[in-house]
Amino acid sequence: MTDTQLPAIITSANVTKHYNQTYALAGVDLTIGLGESLAIMGPSGSGKTTLLHCLAGIIRPDEGAIRLLPTDRSARADVTSLKESGRTALRREVFGFVFQQGLLLPELSAVDNVALAAMLAGMKRPDASEHARAWLQRLGLAEHLHKRIGQLSGGQAQRVAIARAQVTQPVVTFADEPTGALDSTTSTEVLSELLASTTGRGSTLVVVTHDETVAARCSRIVRLADGRIVSDSANQAQQAPAQFVQNTEFAQNNR
Ligand code: ADP
Ligand code: MG
Repeated sequence: MTDTQLPAIITSANVTKHYNQTYALAGVDLTIGLGESLAIMGPSGSGKTTLLHCLAGIIRPDEGAIRLLPTDRSARADVTSLKESGRTALRREVFGFVFQQGLLLPELSAVDNVALAAMLAGMKRPDASEHARAWLQRLGLAEHLHKRIGQLSGGQAQRVAIARAQVTQPVVTFADEPTGALDSTTSTEVLSELLASTTGRGSTLVVVTHDETVAARCSRIVRLADGRIVSDSANQAQQAPAQFVQNTEFAQNNR
């Protein structure tokens, strides 16, 4: 069982998913902590996206259980056994999503893209527009509120995607290769904004990345291979004191 030191927000127990003969996930046990920034790494095809989609209630695993624990902003939920309507509500109101591309509507303006997400989560239009503007301004897009997504650079569009994800103040934000299409300077800036707008307000970020510099800035790194967790920095941190004790004993024995 891979674990975290923080209070848990999501638990996954023995989650498996296969497509025909291929096991995309072959039994994943993972506890994600509140306020954690968790990087999921691993080679292409190792199951990163499948795991993210299972955790977020986008796809249903074949076996295993995913639970969202209660917070002051959301009720306890058994993600795997919820009906589609319940999972849709969870994705709109409790979770936020930032993908490499594809969630923004290219023909709508930046502010309308963000306001739409807020309205889908139940906000009235005037409030939604006001919150959308505030988030876009916070992310440095004050001059671009009324531009269509197609008129923005890749980095600007990803900032709109962050605003879109955060306008509902999600409890957990899921990001799949959010900086995958950006140059390294823009990638660093966008990641900083993603971390500040999620863990910066005490919420959780789960980010799939193949970029070690992205992962290094997260509080925890879990690595997958062939649909299984093969390493977890949270467990390595727990082992560190044991090694320290050993070294101390060694020092004492050799005094
Ligand atoms: P990653 O994100 O680490 O690259 P994925 O989770 O996308 O990996 O995929 C894991 C495995 O499951 C791969 O072998 C992939 O081909 C397979 N897979 C994922 N989604 C599907 C699907 N919808 N249909 C068939 N096979 C899939
Ligand atoms: Mg993937």
